[in-house]
Amino acid sequence: MRAIEGRRVAELGRRGKYLLLHFEGGLSFVFHLKMTGQFRFVPKGSAADKHSRLALRFHGPTRDMHFRDVRKFGCLYASPTEDIGSLPALAALGAEPLEVSLEEFRALIRGRKGRLKSLLLNQAFLAGIGNIYADEILFRSGLHPMRPAATLKPDDARRLWQSIRAVLRAAIRSGGSSIRDYSDSDGRRGRFQSSHRVYGRRGEPCVRCGRPVERRVIGGRSSFFCPRCQLI
Ligand SMILES: [Zn+2]
Repeated sequence: MRAIEGRRVAELGRRGKYLLLHFEGGLSFVFHLKMTGQFRFVPKGSAADKHSRLALRFHGPTRDMHFRDVRKFGCLYASPTEDIGSLPALAALGAEPLEVSLEEFRALIRGRKGRLKSLLLNQAFLAGIGNIYADEILFRSGLHPMRPAATLKPDDARRLWQSIRAVLRAAIRSGGSSIRDYSDSDGRRGRFQSSHRVYGRRGEPCVRCGRPVERRVIGGRSSFFCPRCQLI
C-alpha cells in the first residue's frame, strides 16, 4: 500500500464487473465486489469496522473511503496501469454489452452452443451481465432461458440485443438492484428491484399474461421466467 501513498486518483473506470481505480504515476487497483463488497465514503479518520478490508485516506476535504466486505469473496489486484489488460481476470472478459453493435452481436452469437441463460452469464461472451439482469433481459426478449443459442433467428438476436441495452440502461439509471447488500458509496440502495418483471417473482402473475412466474435452477443459478411469454 506504500506504493500509492501521496498519489492522486487520476481516473475511475469499469470493465465488466470490475471497478478500476487508476492512480497518478501508472498504478491501478482492480476491485471485484462479488457478493457483499461495498465501497463506502465515511467521515475522515473513521475507525474501520470489523467488515472493512481496506481504508483509503485522502488528503484535502475528500472523505475517507472504506472497502467493506462481510463475506470476503471480494478481491483487489494492484497492477501497473499499462498491464491491467493482461491480468487474467480482465484478459478473459468479452466485449462490453453497451458497446457492441447489432452486427457485432450477431457475429458473437453465431455458432454459440449452450442455453441463453448460461451464455448471458458467461463473462467471456459479454462482460458484466449478472443473474438478475440475464433474467430480465430474457423476459423482455420473449426468449426462454433454456433456449439453445444456436436456434435464434435473426429477429430473436435483434430483440435480445435490444433488450440487453434497454435493461442495462434502465438499471443504471435506477442505481442498480438492491436485493441484499448492494448500495452505492453514499449508502443509497438501488431502485431497479421494483422494476423487476420476473426476477424474484416466483408464483406471482406475469406482468404481460398473468400466468405465474416460474423458477428453475439453470447452470446452478436461480432463473425466473414466464413459461408462456418466453419461447423455447
Ligand atoms: Zn407471461
